Amino acid sequence: MANTIFECKNVMKRFGGLIAVSIDSFAIPRHSIVSIIGPNGAGKSTFFNCITGFYQIDDGEMVFDGHPLKGRTIDQITRLGIARTFQNIRLFNNMTAIENIMVGQEPHLTSSPLGAIFGTRHTRGEEQAAEDEARRLLDFAGLRGKGDLLAKNLPYGDQRRLELARALASKPSLLLLDEPTAGMNPRETQDMTRFFRRLRDELGITILLIEHDMRVVMGISEYVTVLDYGQKIAEGAPQEIQKNPRVIEAYLGRGAMGEAGASAIAVEQPAA
Ligand code: ADP
Ligand code: MG
Repeated sequence: MANTIFECKNVMKRFGGLIAVSIDSFAIPRHSIVSIIGPNGAGKSTFFNCITGFYQIDDGEMVFDGHPLKGRTIDQITRLGIARTFQNIRLFNNMTAIENIMVGQEPHLTSSPLGAIFGTRHTRGEEQAAEDEARRLLDFAGLRGKGDLLAKNLPYGDQRRLELARALASKPSLLLLDEPTAGMNPRETQDMTRFFRRLRDELGITILLIEHDMRVVMGISEYVTVLDYGQKIAEGAPQEIQKNPRVIEAYLGRGAMGEAGASAIAVEQPAA
């Protein structure tokens, strides 16, 4: 389907005897923001690792923009247009913010960004263009003036932004964000949520979001998919998901239903 940027069928990932992911079908409409929620250990991050080539799936098929993904490497998948951030921040701590972003550009450069950084210059023009682009991304991500700071010296919220800028440097059309607001205060979370919307509205990027903050999920997603024990147990508009008994049960434990259940995932819509 032309309006579907990603779809998969019967995707299975095992770790020994554990079936971490077993998703019969899942699709992402182009230019949408879709959230994946579910209890800890539901298989959310593993699913991201399967899509991005960090893990090879044991069964099933995944198609991105008409390209089958099975068997492709992380780099090949990045070059096709999928980028991601990690649940636990992964930056090069002893490199500057700009250098971290330039590493993200690598799939599109003909010369090595490490060569550009460490002085074994290959293509001076390309190097300059890459750095200009990296500075533009730095500003766009809200890190203006912080480009020459080492990643490890940035405050936590800025490190999250830097990871996003690095992901954007590979020019993705689909961006996978794994708990990007974890550990952020409400103010930072709100800024971040606005930023996601800009990525979609201004850059046309489709976003798949793993998120535990229900205010973010309910406020920003067009669709929500719920995983539990590796399987999809519900899918739909945020308002429907919030009322779904299976979802409430998954969040509260087997058999714990009722008023308290509903309020655990029911949240007020944040102001736009
Ligand atoms: P979530 O992101 O939804 O919290 P995960 O995808 O991290 O869940 O984990 C899903 C299940 O797979 C968990 O039971 C976890 O312990 C297991 N798992 C994840 N990665 C590995 C791995 N590399 N080796 C073995 N088991 C794993
Ligand atoms: Mg996870």
